Amino acid sequence: MPNIRDSKRLIPLGRLPVLPAWVSGSRAYGAMSSSNSGAVIATDGEIPAYLITAPFLKAAIRVAADELGIESATVMPLTKHLIRLWKTDDQLSATLKSKIDEESPNPSPIPEKFFAVVISQDSISINATVPEDSIHDVVPVNDADGISAGWYFGNDQLLEIIQTPPAAWYCQNYNHPNGDPDTGKCHTCGGPMKK
Ligand SMILES: [Zn+2]
Repeated sequence: MPNIRDSKRLIPLGRLPVLPAWVSGSRAYGAMSSSNSGAVIATDGEIPAYLITAPFLKAAIRVAADELGIESATVMPLTKHLIRLWKTDDQLSATLKSKIDEESPNPSPIPEKFFAVVISQDSISINATVPEDSIHDVVPVNDADGISAGWYFGNDQLLEIIQTPPAAWYCQNYNHPNGDPDTGKCHTCGGPMKK
């Protein structure tokens, strides 16, 4: 078996944006767009706590926009989107799922367990052997000195999702592409964003 360092499942530190979980969905989406990554790592008090994927976040903002208006939806913090995802509400989950399927660039639907993933609290050494089976889909990886080196992904589909650049947001006026929904206004013309 190869070790973690030689595995294609190691995503080096810096490849994925890392932001506090209290930032707005719009800001997190912008960070994903500027780094061409399909996910963001959200920290809780400096600790990497959640992996949040772009298809989920886009759908979550759109669903919230239908309920609360786009401006409120874009400033909603990541923590609130996660609470909404994980609370027991089959209707919301179903609506989110259908929006994500609409947005998905891949023909294979994204399983609900990969919309957002809780990151393992235990880390693994970069010199360790690739685990045959991990119960965690995202595990922090440390180098020989115990310094954070990145993330090990236990699942190939999730690995593909996080390396797929996020879909753009388009304005209603001229279809200008935007890397994030801002507060519902197009960065180029100031016109309203399509939901
Ligand atoms: Zn525009």
